[in-house]
Amino acid sequence: MSDQNNDSTRRGFLMNAGAGLLAAAVPATQLAPPDKQPPNLDVPEPLGKKVGWAIVGLGKLALEEVMPAFARCEKSRPVALVSGHPDKAKQVAERYGINPKSIYNYENYDTIKDNPEIQVVYNILPNHMHAEYTIRGHQAGKHVLCEKPMAATVRECEQMIDAAKNAQRKLMIGYRLRYEPYNQTAIEMARKKQFGEIKLIESSNVQDVQAPNIRLSKQTAGGPLGDVGVYCINACRYLTGEEPVEVTGTQHQPKDDPRFAEVPESVAFTLRFPSGVMGYCGCSFGGAESRRYRVQCAKGWFELDPAFAYTGLELHTSQEKTRSQINLPQKNHFAAEMDHLSTCILDNKDPLTPGEEGLADMKVMAAIEESVRTGKAVAVS
Ligand code: NAD
Repeated sequence: MSDQNNDSTRRGFLMNAGAGLLAAAVPATQLAPPDKQPPNLDVPEPLGKKVGWAIVGLGKLALEEVMPAFARCEKSRPVALVSGHPDKAKQVAERYGINPKSIYNYENYDTIKDNPEIQVVYNILPNHMHAEYTIRGHQAGKHVLCEKPMAATVRECEQMIDAAKNAQRKLMIGYRLRYEPYNQTAIEMARKKQFGEIKLIESSNVQDVQAPNIRLSKQTAGGPLGDVGVYCINACRYLTGEEPVEVTGTQHQPKDDPRFAEVPESVAFTLRFPSGVMGYCGCSFGGAESRRYRVQCAKGWFELDPAFAYTGLELHTSQEKTRSQINLPQKNHFAAEMDHLSTCILDNKDPLTPGEEGLADMKVMAAIEESVRTGKAVAVS
């Protein structure tokens, strides 16, 4: 160390020592008088009532996204688990402070009706089990949040809606993007015609799916259209606020890739809306991740890229050759959607994305599948 450094260190020590002596001379009550707290202290309100949730199916989405999201919820708390794997369920219950007596399996699932702590079940099972476990949930007197795609067929969606009506319970579909600021802002831009009339919406949702995976099996109602294509369909519907009248579809199912023995690799489709807006979309299980849409309007465009991811959404706009990026707060999508349904239950309101929303998408998907089969444009019933 140089002399100069030694000098400044000594000076620093003496100054600090002086400050210490000065502080010791001031009585503690003068430094922190208990009756002189700032008047604007942020004292939280007591927690309101939280709705009790049962999580049905402890797979990837449940464990990696939904269970951790409860920490961000204001109105929702996990109180029960339904799983075919008792050891895993016990471990999850311990981690989240759930009573081990509130662990159910698929056989005794219906006995949730005797547990008044459970007000709503979140159905996160493979697609072919959405209808059965939603209907049984309603029959047990519970509200249901069911993951997308709502079910395997239009008929199943209708049965789920009927079950909710008969039980006088709420049915919501897990369209998490309707509860986060980026897609909400895009909807607002579309409604306000901020860039003029919408002409075209281009949207794609692509991921690289590896086996084994429920998405690659026909028996579990897998396939790219229901799993990721549904986001493009739903986006075209919520951006236009219209229902498509006619669709076309085409698909590719490679013979040399065992992943696609039962489901197509890619599906491309168009949607024609009554106002003249055209949607052209694509989904695939065989490409690098990309989840986006661009809304082409008369005077400019706006796009979300990514639009459908859990985090990191970006909103870009372009008008008269000027490009901008709009930054908004990022929200936990799963906490937002769960709290939405809990609020609806507490206030007895209808959810923003009820069963009818899932049914509308399912009708579009059925028409796209018919167009793929027939090679013709198909009217959406
Ligand atoms: P996953 O395969 O990881 O989990 C499925 C769970 O169901 C597993 O715990 C599995 O043990 C259980 N299961 C019970 N019976 C089964 C059976 N007969 N066959 C296969 N599994 C069975 O799947 P995941 O990725 O968690 O997806 C579950 C659901 O959530 C799907 O409907 C999917 O579309 C949906 N999802 C939604 C989002 C979203 O962003 N909203 C994201 C991912 C998945």
